[in-house]
Amino acid sequence: MSEVLNVEAIFGENVFNLGTMRERLPKNVYKEVKKVMDQGGELSPATADIVAKAMKDWAVEHGATHYTHWFQPLTGITAEKHDSFIGHPDENGRMLMEFSGKELIKGEPDASSFPSGGLRATFEARGYTAWDITSPAFLKEDATGVILCIPTAFCSYTGEALDKKTPLLRSMEAIGEQALRIVKLFGNTRATKVTASVGPEQEYFLVDRQKYLKREDLIFAGRTLFGAPAPKGQELEDHYFGVIRERVGAFMKDLNIELWKLGVTAKTQHNEAAPAQHELAPIYETANIAVDHNQIIMETMKKLAERHGLRCLLNEKPFAGVNGSGKHNNWSITTDDGMNMLDPGETPNENIQFLLVLACILKAVDIHADLLRQSAADVGNDHRLGANEAPPAIISVFLGEQLEDVVRQLIETGEAKSCLLGGKLMTGVSTLPDLPKDATDRNRTSPFAFTGNKFEFRMVGSADSVASPNITLNAIVAEAFCEAADILEKADDFDMAVHDLIKQYLTEHHRIIFNGNGYSEEWVKEAERRGLPNIKSMIEAAGALTEERTVKLFERFHIFTRAELESREEIEYETYAKSINIEALTMIDMASKQIIPAVIKYSQKLAKTVLDVKAAGVEPVVQAELLSRVNSKLIEMKEPLETLQREEAAAFAMEDVKAQAFRYKDVVMPAMEALRAPADELEMLVDKEDWPFPTYGDLMFEV
Ligand code: ADP
Ligand code: MG
Repeated sequence: MSEVLNVEAIFGENVFNLGTMRERLPKNVYKEVKKVMDQGGELSPATADIVAKAMKDWAVEHGATHYTHWFQPLTGITAEKHDSFIGHPDENGRMLMEFSGKELIKGEPDASSFPSGGLRATFEARGYTAWDITSPAFLKEDATGVILCIPTAFCSYTGEALDKKTPLLRSMEAIGEQALRIVKLFGNTRATKVTASVGPEQEYFLVDRQKYLKREDLIFAGRTLFGAPAPKGQELEDHYFGVIRERVGAFMKDLNIELWKLGVTAKTQHNEAAPAQHELAPIYETANIAVDHNQIIMETMKKLAERHGLRCLLNEKPFAGVNGSGKHNNWSITTDDGMNMLDPGETPNENIQFLLVLACILKAVDIHADLLRQSAADVGNDHRLGANEAPPAIISVFLGEQLEDVVRQLIETGEAKSCLLGGKLMTGVSTLPDLPKDATDRNRTSPFAFTGNKFEFRMVGSADSVASPNITLNAIVAEAFCEAADILEKADDFDMAVHDLIKQYLTEHHRIIFNGNGYSEEWVKEAERRGLPNIKSMIEAAGALTEERTVKLFERFHIFTRAELESREEIEYETYAKSINIEALTMIDMASKQIIPAVIKYSQKLAKTVLDVKAAGVEPVVQAELLSRVNSKLIEMKEPLETLQREEAAAFAMEDVKAQAFRYKDVVMPAMEALRAPADELEMLVDKEDWPFPTYGDLMFEV
């Protein structure tokens, strides 16, 4: 047997977690830290100094030389700037490592080069990072050495959020506060706090690094822009849950170890549907920590892939014709006395609370379907959503037969007298049924599915941060809870009022419920009939950010100001335009410098063969025919290439960023498709030896 791995011993060893703090901090300091963590507020400067020193000593003992305020700007990935612990040498030239409370709590990165969507003029370069005390500091080990990473929020000089974490923390406070009002209404006096929990399942592809390096499209765009389908795709369904290949297994093993050391609960791993596609799921945790950990998971995947001679592709659609990658965002809300508000529960009382929570969520999702759709939008995801493999671009909620039946009865009669699948009927306050768990089958085609005691939002893209979806979920549900609590807190007869409210919400919003096949053409038509939005692209979704009801929602709970929302909308257009521009330039480059020259060389070879064979006195029928086909496909590339060059330049020159983004989508993207078609056909004709880069078959089946 190989060396025994002691998972319990290594778990969290690179994290300055509560346990480490309890060991290393004086009792009163530890208490103060814990209090700020649980209840908010600020550490006193003296306390911050003590915490900083303990943190630095611990980090240095583990080999750290630098620290960084680790933050999540609007690029969707993380940012870090390393500072060493080096202090001023004394007069003897001796140096002592130092780290102050001030440095721990606040950083001031020159932030002018991060996306701000016009929020911050470049001359106001100041940005601040502030320690998110609820997410523990950790050590990152890589080629630069060991770095102490302090999770932080990132704001402008004037206090506007420039990152994904600040609004997430604000949204968690909102849902916490409003959810507490709901549980109090149902007589829970013990709970003092309600927290959103998230478990994001991460999908990814692994390809050979050497082959990856031969493809400009993968290098610059993260996805293939050319490529004929391999003879085999995913049709045999032999990859999903299949035996994990040796090389991939070795990668997964190292990945788990590294993640466990970082306190990330890597739990489930398996092969996914497409060849070379895999998944990793951690155990769910508090939303902001889950968001941080998902960033760590993505970063660690990329880093370890390199060490194994592999490349990790997180793009939503690296290959045409096989499944893309997403990130199922499992979400629930739990009180600090241990009640999951999405658990149907055992008693009628809990049952009514559950039905109210459910009704509120249906209402929230129906009213803000466009915003929820927007929260899962990114450039790569446009190739996935609605493309018959991922959830459709239409938001709907899957409840399962049993719950749907309960909802139907409630709408029709105001009571649910029976419960499908032989569930127990409890006659309590409002004659509502008890709901056994797992009484329903799953539905893989729904974008927003109830799965027993959580909602699974399946639209999110694999490369994207899960911050936005969770900000949105927290906010829209907080709003619905708030409106329900406003009514119910004033009610004379609570039982009657809650009964009526559930019925009202379900009646008004049941159009959002859909249990059928979300991939079908009929659903698209049915959704249209129901008036549900079908938003096909990232930039069409972006407008939802500044809809009046969105602004009202976010301002009400102090999550975003109007200016912050406007800036985020602008960044969507900017990001889209820049990304498609890179893709277009990459295609132009590959077509002109790789594909066309390769085809010319191959034609030359064929032409020579034709002449040689003829000179030998034989008719080169096949050779000549192939030459002519290759030549005509080459001619077919000429016009699309010129068109793409022209359209890319025209789009690039545009001033208005929104109009520009639409120009890229409506004109440049189709031009890219038109260039790709003859090139992919040529790939099928040209000798493999002469094709300038690895094919789909090489990439997906030779890992
Ligand atoms: P699936 O069958 O969809 O793969 P799992 O039960 O394995 O579902 O869970 C998938 C993800 O959902 C995991 O990250 C898991 O920790 C998370 N999860 C489970 N229960 C909850 C919950 N109550 N709230 C949030 N996430 C949860
Ligand atoms: Mg799942």
